[in-house]
Amino acid sequence: MGKIITGIHHVTAIAGDAQKNLEFYAGILGIRMVKKTVNFDGPEVYHFYYGDETGQPGSILTFFPYQGLVRGRHGKGMLNTTTFSVPLTSLDYWLNRLKKYGIAYKEPQERFDGEVVVYFEDTDGLGLELVFNDKDARPAYSGGPVPAEHTIRGFYNVEVWEEGYERTAGLLTEQLEHTLIAEKANRFRFAANDSPGNYVDIICTPDSLRGLGGSGTVHHIAFSTPGKTEQLEVRDRIVKRMLNPTPVLDRNYFTSIYFREPGGVLFEVATAVPGFTVDESVEHLGEALKLPAQFEKERARLEQLLPAVSINLSDYK
Ligand code: ZN
Repeated sequence: MGKIITGIHHVTAIAGDAQKNLEFYAGILGIRMVKKTVNFDGPEVYHFYYGDETGQPGSILTFFPYQGLVRGRHGKGMLNTTTFSVPLTSLDYWLNRLKKYGIAYKEPQERFDGEVVVYFEDTDGLGLELVFNDKDARPAYSGGPVPAEHTIRGFYNVEVWEEGYERTAGLLTEQLEHTLIAEKANRFRFAANDSPGNYVDIICTPDSLRGLGGSGTVHHIAFSTPGKTEQLEVRDRIVKRMLNPTPVLDRNYFTSIYFREPGGVLFEVATAVPGFTVDESVEHLGEALKLPAQFEKERARLEQLLPAVSINLSDYK
C-alpha cells in the first residue's frame, strides 16, 4: 500500500449569513463555489463548498451558514487560521483588493523562508491568511473575478492552536503519516506531503483561552486518503490509538470518518474519490442545489426553507 494519508482534504467552518458568505468567498476572494448542497446531518442548513476549478483536495473550504448564529471565539483546541496560497508577485494586487472591499488586514510579515503572510478575517471573523510564495505549481482558475495570474491556488497551510504540541504531533506522525518539516518559535509545521496545500502548523498557545464554537470558527479539518481501502486502514490505526472513530459515513463526494484529536480539534479522514464531478460536470460545478438521494424527496420543502442566494461575479472584477 502506498501512502494512506496524502495531505489536507478540506476545512469546514461555521458561518452566519449565507449570502454574505457567498459574496466574500466567490466574489471578493474569487474562489469557485464547487458545490451547493445541504448539511447531510441536518438538511435545513446549506453546505457550501469552495475550491479550485475541479475541487481538488487541498483547496476545499466549506461552510455551514446558520443565519443569526452567535459568534464563536478563536482559542486553543481549535483550528484558528486557514491560509490560502497566492503567487509572490501578487502582493500589491491583493492588498489593493482587500482595501477596495474594506477588509482590515495585518501588515505583511515573513514566516518561513519565501513566505510572506497577510492575516485578515471574513465577515464572521473566521481567521484567514494569504501566503505569498513561489512554490505552488497548481493551476490558476480563470473563470472567476480575480485575474488568473493572481488567483488563490488552494490552501497553503492551516494553523491549529494547542496547549502543547506533543500529543497532536504524535497522532500526526505515528498514525497519519505526517513528518515535522519546519519549526520556528512556537510554530511546528507538519506535512504528509511537502507541498502547498498540505501544511499543518501547530502553534503552542498555553496561555490562550479555549476556543468556543460559533460563527467564524472552524468545525473540523479533513485529511485526504486515496480510497476506501486506505480509509479503513487509517480507521484501524485510530481505533488502536483509542480515539474512537465514527463508522465510515457516505458524504456523496467522498466517504468520511471522524474522531477528536487529543487537543480537542475534530479530525476527519475523507477519500479523494469520487469527488465533486460525480453529480455535476466541471463546467457547471456549484450552480444547482444538489441533494443526496435521501433528501431528494424533500427538495420542494428544502428549497422553500433555505435562503435564496445569488451572485453576479462580474460585479467583483
Ligand atoms: Zn468534512
